[in-house]
Amino acid sequence: MGNSRPEIDDQLIAKYGGPGPRYTSYPTALEFSVEHRAEALIAALHAGNHELIPADLSVYVHVPFCASPCFYCGCNKVITRSSSIGDEYLRHLALEVQRLAAHVASDRKVRQIHLGGGTPTFLNLEQIEQLLTLISDHLVIALDAEISLEIDPRSVTADGLHRLAGMGFNRLSMGVQDLDQRVQQAVNRVHGEQLIDAQIKAARAAGFASISVDLIYGLPHQTRQSFADTMARMIAMRPDRLSLFNYAHMPHKFKAQRQIKAVDLPDADTKLAIFHQSMDQLLAAGYEYIGMDHFALPEDALARARQDGSMVRNFQGYSTLGDLDLLAFGPSAISQVGDTFSQNLHEYRAWCKALAATSTDNAGLAVMRGLTRSAEDRLRADVINAIMCRGALDFASVEAAHNIDFELHFAAELERLQTLQHDGLIRFSGRGLRITPVGQQLLRAIAMVFDSYIHAARSRQTDNSVQRFSRVI
Ligand code: SF4
Repeated sequence: MGNSRPEIDDQLIAKYGGPGPRYTSYPTALEFSVEHRAEALIAALHAGNHELIPADLSVYVHVPFCASPCFYCGCNKVITRSSSIGDEYLRHLALEVQRLAAHVASDRKVRQIHLGGGTPTFLNLEQIEQLLTLISDHLVIALDAEISLEIDPRSVTADGLHRLAGMGFNRLSMGVQDLDQRVQQAVNRVHGEQLIDAQIKAARAAGFASISVDLIYGLPHQTRQSFADTMARMIAMRPDRLSLFNYAHMPHKFKAQRQIKAVDLPDADTKLAIFHQSMDQLLAAGYEYIGMDHFALPEDALARARQDGSMVRNFQGYSTLGDLDLLAFGPSAISQVGDTFSQNLHEYRAWCKALAATSTDNAGLAVMRGLTRSAEDRLRADVINAIMCRGALDFASVEAAHNIDFELHFAAELERLQTLQHDGLIRFSGRGLRITPVGQQLLRAIAMVFDSYIHAARSRQTDNSVQRFSRVI
């Protein structure tokens, strides 16, 4: 997509904009089985250690605490003001890191660390430093590792940002959501614009290499005008990356959302108009569209990774570093090692209890479900990754990597893609396909063509994706 957005008509949105997975993994977490145990994760780590060139590592730590609830939130978190809970959490995290890291060969380096949540900055600076030390005591961190955390701008000071940079953090992402005070009050997340501006400046002065900001559209009281103002003010602060998430109102699923009155929400047309005008503003301001809901300045590492084809999609969204095994710690966190996905117990107390138990059942870890991908899953994951990250699919390279005949193997999918070509979402060229600028706005719908689980569920008429996934657009 250049620096103007192609028009996308209502009919295409009605046809392709329905619910769909975000494809942070394939198969998606919905396919995880409770039969999956931590032993499969350990076995995958050992197998990886014995590869000719063992994969390096990415580490994700889920810090599940928040001081107050944001009403739109669908994350796994514990609302608390307890000052001792951070220490309790770190004691259990230490057990988890020790037990898992014991199975990692010492020549495998950590190239990426991300602290997400919840609110990682719920922990005080000493606790965050302890957490990093815990990782470096048990795993080898590469000198040039990307070390990032999510911050709530209300819970860290400019001095705190300098101290975080001193510990080695070099990327941050900040949840802003909206700068309009009325919207902020309606979602119980109030902070002034000056605070955000000051934090971004402080982070830059402290040496953070990439600053990312999250905004949400579809929140109560938002109008086209109010969000255009927020976007203009945000663009003026020039974050390196900007994510624009679609608020999915699912009060039956997320209790906090019951505090949001449905009558205050913008209607579907307004939401779509907000998304399109925001995209126009971002593209006009020089941001590049990365995919899904992500934008970045051309010189940012993510935009460069997209340009050179090295960008991947994983549980944290789009990422610059592929071919890493992901070790994940904390409640609900999902590890991906080789072809195994292993998710921890969701609930904080249950996670603590599993780690505190002296039994060696489940390898002393808190894994509660997961799966091991088949060769077919891996093939489809690669195809979906190419669609989500590269905007193109080269049949010959898929054949070379997976030893298949593409046209034979994907005959049904190629048939389905004819309709998408007719509707202008993709264009076949030679033995491959390219996603058009219109299709770039409907990536999930294109990827879904290759999702055999969705098609199997549809043919059994058990597909309930309306409840399971957010809308594509
Ligand atoms: S949006 Fe973030 S800070 Fe707010 S309640 Fe959810 S996890 Fe906590």
